[in-house]
Formats: sequence, structure tokens, C-alpha cells
Amino acid sequence: MDLKNIKKLTLTINSIILVLVFGLAGFFHMCGARYLVLFSIPTALVYIFGYYFITHDRLDIYVRSVYIWLTLYMSVTTIGLGYKLGFHLYCLSMIPIIFYTEYMAGQLGKKKINAVVVSVLIVLSYLFSTGYAAFSGPVYKVDNSIAGVFWLFNSAIVLYFLIVYSGIMLKMVGDSEKRLIVLAHTDRLTGLFNRHFMMSELEDAIRSDGGKFVAMADIDFFKRINDQYGHNAGDFVLRTISELMRQMCPDGKVSRWGGEEFLILSSGSAKEGVKLMEKIRTTIESYEFTFEGKKIPVTITAGVSDYVKGTSVDEWINEADENLYFGKRNGRNRVVLKRDTSV
Ligand code: GH3
Ligand code: MG
Ligand code: MG
Repeated sequence: MDLKNIKKLTLTINSIILVLVFGLAGFFHMCGARYLVLFSIPTALVYIFGYYFITHDRLDIYVRSVYIWLTLYMSVTTIGLGYKLGFHLYCLSMIPIIFYTEYMAGQLGKKKINAVVVSVLIVLSYLFSTGYAAFSGPVYKVDNSIAGVFWLFNSAIVLYFLIVYSGIMLKMVGDSEKRLIVLAHTDRLTGLFNRHFMMSELEDAIRSDGGKFVAMADIDFFKRINDQYGHNAGDFVLRTISELMRQMCPDGKVSRWGGEEFLILSSGSAKEGVKLMEKIRTTIESYEFTFEGKKIPVTITAGVSDYVKGTSVDEWINEADENLYFGKRNGRNRVVLKRDTSV
């Protein structure tokens, strides 16, 4: 949630609470609870000033004053009318909100409140007010059936809040976990899988059955492309080649292995690997890479290697790498499967 939406939501919540404060003041008046009616005046002022703080980017002051006043309000009403009405239950919902507020303040780079300290203060005021009502009895008497209605209403709201809040928190954690996993597996420039992710895929691949091949591809004379057309042009070539490879390799996994090196992992025989890489090589060779009006000729060289049972991931990749460098030494723009017979 961004700051604008947080402000909007806070304004709505502030208005709802203000209406509730007036409604409860009417109820206190009906019960003859004079001190509670008087206490409602500064309470309403806190929320009226709240509009100013919310709209003037002082959410920190708003949040602090509301927390302090809500805690006070719960204690005063519990001492005044007893805990049978269930006003003290709101402490249970305030504690998770405080931890969430501390987290959000950190995310937005605002001054944080100490959620543990505030929670302890809330618990102390809860114990003091409910303890006072339990031992000395409330200041004002409320009819049992009215107290019962309040108890049920307040309990339902607090429990509903806890259920919704827990659901939202769990969804947020799940969503952010998914986003982090994607980020941790992806190369930023090209959107391809990164080397770290590909290593774990290769480890899985050698444990599973069925023919698999890897292809290590490297852009030819890429340094010259950077020197001649600029670094941005180089980045454009990297992104375009990545997209082409991804499109042409829907069943395999394509990763950016290093600067201008790509590693493809797919199921199939070495021959099928060579066929695929030839298709990619010729597509890139004939593709029109146009950056800022300039056409950039691009070719790649690739080395293919199928998996030989009993060998390690490093040995497998090394074989593809050796084939690639054989291709580099022998004219570039080619696909190599066996170093003595270039394909
Ligand atoms: P070869 O055909 O032998 O592979 O020659 P080459 O010029 O492609 O290889 P070399 O290793 O000499 O140069 C690779 C260049 O790739 C150097 C480096 O600046 C560039 N490079 C690496 N990562 C990036 C990147 O993310 N963006 C751009 N634009 N260039 C990059
Ligand atoms: Mg290169
Ligand atoms: Mg290279």
C-alpha cells in the first residue's frame, strides 16, 4: 500500500471512530455516566485534530496520539462501566496494529515506534483498569442486558478484526515471498534465470532420468559492440537475444550465465541440442538488431554437451564450455558438439 492509500484509509477510519465517539457519548449520557461524557470531549478533539495531522503528512503524530488516547479511553470506560461491556477487548486488536505500524514506518522510512514498549504499556493499562473494575467494582452501574449487548458487539468486532487481520497478514507474507523468489531467481537486465538458480536446476537435472543437454552460448566480439555502439546498445542486444532464446526454447530453461554468456538446459539428445542451437544461431545472425537507428550485426558461438551418467555438474558444463571455446578459436558464429568435428 502506498502513502496516498494509507492516508485515504486512515481518514476513513478516523471518521468512523469519530462517529463512534459521539454515539458512545450519547450512551454514557443515557447511563448517567457524567465523567465519561466529559471525557468524550477531549476524545473527539483528538480525532478532529487527527484530520489535520493526516492531511499534513504527520501520520506519526496522529498514530501516537490515537494510540495513547485509545488506551486511555479503554481504561477509563472499563473503570467507569466495568469490563462486562468488553471495551478492554480492543487491546487485543491494538497490539497487532502496533506491530504492523512499526513495520510500515520502517518500510516508508519514517520514524518508528517501539511496538514492544507500546504493547507492554497497553497490557499494563488493561491489567490496571480490568483489575480496578474486578476488585472495586465499576463507578457507574449499567443494566446487565445492555452490558451483554455491548459485550457481544465489542467481542464480535474484535474477533472479526483478528480473523481479517491474520488473513491479510498471511496473504502479504505469501505474496512477498513469491516476489522475492522470482527476484532471487531472475537476472535483472534480461529477465532470464540467473546463474544461482540454474545451478540448482542442473543439480536436479543430473539426479533425474532421461537425456538432457546443456548449451553454453557466447556473443561474438561483444566488447566491440559496446565500444562501437555504446553500452546501452550492448544492453539492448543482450535483452533482445535473451527474448529470442526464451521464445525459441519453450521447453528448456534459459539463463544468463555471465556477462554475455547464456546457458540453456533442456531435455533431449545432444543432436537435438545442436539442432536447437543452430536454429538460435542462424536466427540471431539474420535478426536485425537496430538501436537508435543503427543496425548492429550480431552472431553467437555455442558449445553443446549431453549429460554422461556419473559425471558432475561442473564436468558437464566444462564440456560445453570447452566446445564453445573450440568454436571461438575456429572462426566463431558456430555450434560445436565435438571439439574435433565442428558442426
Ligand atoms: P569473444 O567473441 O571472444 O567472446 O569476444 P567478446 O568481446 O565477446 O568477449 P570479451 O570477454 O572480451 O568481452 C565481453 C564484454 O561484455 C566485456 C564487457 O564489458 C561486456 N559486458 C558484460 N556484461 C555486460 C552488460 O551487462 N552490458 C553490456 N553492455 N556489456 C557487458
Ligand atoms: Mg563474447
Ligand atoms: Mg564471454
